[in-house]
Amino acid sequence: MAETSQEAAGSESLRQLPSVDRVLGEVRARARVGPVGHELLVQVVREVLAERREGVRQGAPEAPHLAAVVEMVESRLRAVTAPSLRSVINATGVLLHTNLGRAPLAPEAVRAVAAAAGFCNLEMDLASGTRGSRQDHVVGLLQRITGAPSALVVNNNAAAVFLALSSLAAGREVVVARGEQVEIGGSFRMPDVMQAAGVRLVEVGTTNRVRLSDYEAAVGPETALLLKVHRSNFRMVGFVADVSVGELRELGRQVGVPVAYDLGSGALVDLRRRGLPYEPTVQEAVADGADLVLFSGDKLLGGPQAGIAVGRQDLLDRMRKHPLYRVVRVDKLDLAALEATLRLYLDPEAAWERVPVLRMLGASTDHLQERAWRVSDKLRATGADAEVVASQAEVGGGSLPGAALPSWAVRLRCPSISAQELAQRLRSATPPVLGRLREDAVWLDLRSVLPEDDPVLEETVVSVLSSVP
Ligand SMILES: *Cc1c(COP(=O)(O)O)cnc(C)c1O
Repeated sequence: MAETSQEAAGSESLRQLPSVDRVLGEVRARARVGPVGHELLVQVVREVLAERREGVRQGAPEAPHLAAVVEMVESRLRAVTAPSLRSVINATGVLLHTNLGRAPLAPEAVRAVAAAAGFCNLEMDLASGTRGSRQDHVVGLLQRITGAPSALVVNNNAAAVFLALSSLAAGREVVVARGEQVEIGGSFRMPDVMQAAGVRLVEVGTTNRVRLSDYEAAVGPETALLLKVHRSNFRMVGFVADVSVGELRELGRQVGVPVAYDLGSGALVDLRRRGLPYEPTVQEAVADGADLVLFSGDKLLGGPQAGIAVGRQDLLDRMRKHPLYRVVRVDKLDLAALEATLRLYLDPEAAWERVPVLRMLGASTDHLQERAWRVSDKLRATGADAEVVASQAEVGGGSLPGAALPSWAVRLRCPSISAQELAQRLRSATPPVLGRLREDAVWLDLRSVLPEDDPVLEETVVSVLSSVP
């Protein structure tokens, strides 16, 4: 069949496309992208050429010449070789932002991670030269800080809950209030977790009210655990009634069933001391008589991702001996960061000054406003449209739901581009800056930025604005 004139033009254009070898030679000669092996290089060149060929078939006016193909290859190689996980500036006003890695670590914890990254005495008792337990590095600290008889650390709190249910209650019943059937992000729903752990859920009370008599009626020979779950990411107001840990403990003692408390956030200091809303602390849960308290390392505690269980030695022993324990084992880098973070809590006043999440929570609005003025002055000096505005930050990460933290922000506008585009450009900067879109502007909230990062924030915003046409 005769070629149509369009097909003829297409095959003419395809002949213009350079060969794999010519592109390879040129990319190697220019040496613009960091070390990549021969196979990867060939693969990328083939990919780019195949896409261009397809482009011509789909009616692209012309196949690119050598120089253009080489640039495409280099740009793809840069994307492959560039680090994906990077440090960012969180100016969203959400302190524990799950998408931004929850709690930032204290410098002490960062140093401990670096030190543990090589060989370390993870499971070695240096005094005797015999095998030790990785738990030994944190158990003593957790005992002293929380007042609990013992402790066990695993990979995250979801794992701690799952391990506790599996090892203490598999095949038996666990009693939980209906109003505590929480969902922590789509993949962690209490009823599903219980089912997966092989536990029979016995729900008591109604959505909004539960009484001790409901628990009493539900307890039987099959009951393995009374579980209380902190409503960490939502609040119930109005006609509500709860049963305290203390009351549950009394019942538990009478019927010989342990009480476990999934505290979620795991604050180790009383937030009311800095004018913040009440959040139950681990120490209180222990003092109120919970036999087992489970909480996260990277929420209000301000450390690395970890699940921490504190409480009765016999219960923790059963958890440690269960096969799942090995599956959810905490790694050495997390453990190093956790140990260093916990050490900061040996002096709670010092913790407020050094644990980043607590520093952000405790920052005075006067100080935040002062910083907002300083940042906006710097930006305005370069001609930017930057104004200081009162703002509301939040804890996030499923902690202190509904608690608005008064804050100050720099409201940024750029006359030639939309707020969305400005936000996109800020996200593409080095380091990426994450703000909040509001009222056709990008708000940079200073409560989620540590003061020492203000200069980098200023410089980055200035350079982004200067690159806007
Ligand atoms: C956050 C939370 C969890 C899950 O903890 P991770 O450390 O994120 O795994 C479990 N239970 C409650 C009540 C929580 O708030």
